[in-house]
Amino acid sequence: MYEEIKRKLKNAEKIVFFTGAGMSTESGIPDFRSKQGLYRDRYFNGYPPEHILSRSFFSEYPQIFYNFYFEKILHAGANPNDGHKAIALLESKGFEVTVITQNIDGLHTKAGSSAVIELHGSVYRNYCTKCNKRFKLEYLESFKPDIPLCDECSNIVRPDVILYEEPLDQELFARAVSRIAGADILFAIGSSLTVFPAAGLLDYFKGEMLVIINRDTTGYDKKADFIINESCGTVLKDLTGY
Ligand code: NAD
Ligand code: ZN
Repeated sequence: MYEEIKRKLKNAEKIVFFTGAGMSTESGIPDFRSKQGLYRDRYFNGYPPEHILSRSFFSEYPQIFYNFYFEKILHAGANPNDGHKAIALLESKGFEVTVITQNIDGLHTKAGSSAVIELHGSVYRNYCTKCNKRFKLEYLESFKPDIPLCDECSNIVRPDVILYEEPLDQELFARAVSRIAGADILFAIGSSLTVFPAAGLLDYFKGEMLVIINRDTTGYDKKADFIINESCGTVLKDLTGY
C-alpha cells in the first residue's frame, strides 16, 4: 500500500492535505473527539465544550469562554511535529502543495508551509468586536485570565476563529473547493470528518487517489482508496521520505 501511495505522490502535480485536530496531537494539542480529546470531560464549569465554543455563549458568558479558551484551547508554546514538517518539506522540494486545515493552531505555517487555507481561523489573529482593531496573540494573553479589552474603545477582543453558529468565510471556502477539485492526490489527515461544512469539501475531489490517515474510523472511509489507521506524524515521514 505504501509503495503505491509513494509512487503516486512522486508523480503528482497537485497535492492537497486536508487536516484536522489529529494532525496536532503529536505536538501536544488535544483533539476534540478521540479518547483523550477535549470532549472527554463533558463539562467545564457546568457547560459542555461545544456550547462554550459557540457565538451565543461567547456573547453571554465571555469570562467562562475565556477561562476555557486560555486553559484548554490555546497552546502557544506548541511546535510542529514530524507530520507538519514532512508536508512543508515536500513543498520545499518543488511539489505544488496546498494545506487546507480545520486547525487554529498555526502549526502548518510555523513548519514552513506557504499555501495554507485556515478554514477555522487562527489563534494568532484577534480583533475588537466593536472597532475591529487587530491584535496579536501576545496582547490577548496579557489579560489572562481576564477578558481581553480593546485599547482604543474598551470593548471585548475576540480570537479570529470560527465559533459554532458562525458561517465559514465564503471566499476561503471557495478557494479550498477549487484546490481540492484540481488535486491529483488528496490526503485527509487527523480529522473525524464529521464537522460540516468543512468535511463536505472532500466531495469535490475528482482526482485519482484519496488517502485517509486517521487513528479511528472517519465519516468518509467508504470513499477512500487507502485508509491508514496509524499516527500521522510517523506515516507522513515514511510516505514522503522526509
Ligand atoms: P476531531 O477531534 O473530531 O477528530 C480528530 C481525529 O484525529 C480523531 O478521529 C482521532 O482518532 C484522530 N487522531 C488523533 N490523533 C491522531 C494522530 N496522531 N494521528 C492520526 N489520527 C489522529 O477533530 P476535527 O475533525 O479536526 O474536528 C474538530 C474541530 O475542532 C475542528 O473544526 C478544529 O477547528 C477544532 N480543533 C482544532 C484544534 C487545533 O487547532 N489543533 C484542536 C482541537 C479542535
Ligand atoms: Zn475597539
